[in-house]
Amino acid sequence: MVLRTETPPAVTCVDKELNGYVGFANLPNQVFRKSVKRGFEFTLMVVGSSGLGKSTLINSLFLSTIYEDDNYPEGEKLPKTVKVQHSTVYLVEGGVSLKLTLVDTPGFGDAINNTKCWQPILEYIDAKYEEYLNAEGHVNRSTVVDNRVHCCLYFISPGHGLKPLDIEFMKQLHEKVNIVPVIGKADTLTPEECVEFKANVMKEIESNDIKIYQFPVEELDDEEEETQDLQAQLPFAVVGSNTLLDINGKKLRGRMYPWGIAEVENPDHCDFIFLRNNLIRTHMQDLKDVTNNELYENFRCQKLAAVTSVNMDNKLASSNRNPLAQFEIEKKEHQERLKSMKAGMEKVMEEKVKEKMTKMEEQKNELKQKHDHALKILEKLRQEVDAKKKELADNQKALEELQLSSGVAVNNSTSSLNSTKDKISSKKTKSTKKLF
Ligand code: GDP
Repeated sequence: MVLRTETPPAVTCVDKELNGYVGFANLPNQVFRKSVKRGFEFTLMVVGSSGLGKSTLINSLFLSTIYEDDNYPEGEKLPKTVKVQHSTVYLVEGGVSLKLTLVDTPGFGDAINNTKCWQPILEYIDAKYEEYLNAEGHVNRSTVVDNRVHCCLYFISPGHGLKPLDIEFMKQLHEKVNIVPVIGKADTLTPEECVEFKANVMKEIESNDIKIYQFPVEELDDEEEETQDLQAQLPFAVVGSNTLLDINGKKLRGRMYPWGIAEVENPDHCDFIFLRNNLIRTHMQDLKDVTNNELYENFRCQKLAAVTSVNMDNKLASSNRNPLAQFEIEKKEHQERLKSMKAGMEKVMEEKVKEKMTKMEEQKNELKQKHDHALKILEKLRQEVDAKKKELADNQKALEELQLSSGVAVNNSTSSLNSTKDKISSKKTKSTKKLF
């Protein structure tokens, strides 16, 4: 174990052996546990003309029916304008949970006139960045939800090269989102055609200065060496299928033809397995990092620049003024700044006070509810005791009456017995008198 001490400003680094176990070697485990507990979120966008196999591929990627194609009524199967729809699914694998948001763009490239059909998509991506930027400015930032689009799978139709719309879309969005180009339905191309098509696509991407997502090969370890030549494999030529074929007792995902089978997960047949490994297994976090550190950062800087450029314009206009007037203006600006800072601070304070008040109000309500509940229980108990008391009194009264009535009966029977006795004795006396 090595101890490294740094003493600013004369930076002297000394490597020292520790005499025992301190515990910071456990830091990666702490991070791991925390991340697993919190779960992960990822937003994947799919763009391409309808019928290119987007839904089939997404379902094949996540091995489940995630992507429903029937989100809109039958009559609207091919919408005239591009819609941006999103749906969220929660997936769990080996105790790790993933909140996967799929953003679909039905109608893209399906109209006769596709001018600016990328606009709603661009607006959606910007709106998500804006949402995130606003959330970051709140007092409580611990609950900021990341709904930014982390990756866009752009489906290219198999053919000879890119269409003008493909180029326009990628040009418009390459600085907003990580674009991963994909050739759909690659089984409709022969291996030679596929190689040639891929080369044409990459040539056009380069000649149009389009920046697609760069897989960071240098960071890969031994286990992931198979992905080293990834960039050379772009665009991924994929085959999708939701059907499991039974080939000699082996279950395979693929498409069966009279001349053979196109296996989805066979790297000799298509690039599906490369796409899945790199998108999900090895580069999901990098896609999120690039989104946060580069693409979102660009957006944030542009937003801030738009605000500050207004101030800069004011400054340039002022360079020709006389010094006194300039001083007055700057003083005014300074006062304005102070005022806005004060207002900002007051706003924050106000928000905090509001938060506190809301919490206190909630606590007060909670206490009141508890108090009311306790009173209700007390009242109920009091009523029960009263009822019991009344019942006891009634019982006592009934008992007394019973005792009273049984006492009269005894008295009656005693007196009748006495009169009988008297009668007998008088009869006895009479008969004795008769005898004498
Ligand atoms: P989407 O409109 O882009 O979502 O396309 P779908 O996934 O709904 O697929 C449209 C049709 O193409 C369906 O009949 C699929 O079975 C078929 N399909 C999907 N993927 C492939 C593929 O890789 N190759 C071939 N030949 N057909 C496919």
